[in-house]
Amino acid sequence: MANCKKVTRLLSDALDRPLTPGEWLTIRTHLPMCSGCRNYRKQIALLREATKLIRDGEAPAAADEAAG
Ligand SMILES: [Zn+2]
Repeated sequence: MANCKKVTRLLSDALDRPLTPGEWLTIRTHLPMCSGCRNYRKQIALLREATKLIRDGEAPAAADEAAG
């Protein structure tokens, strides 16, 4: 039985690296049972969109520092 800590960690990792089929299975079997992790996934999806906008130069100028 996957726990929330593991699942949220995998959801976060999925933004940075490909997950293994086993890791996806862990997520997919857990999300239908857990509204908390579904909400978490929504939130990081929004964050990812925001990050993409910053990279593309469409967000407010605060990104300059991070770009080095
Ligand atoms: Zn959960």
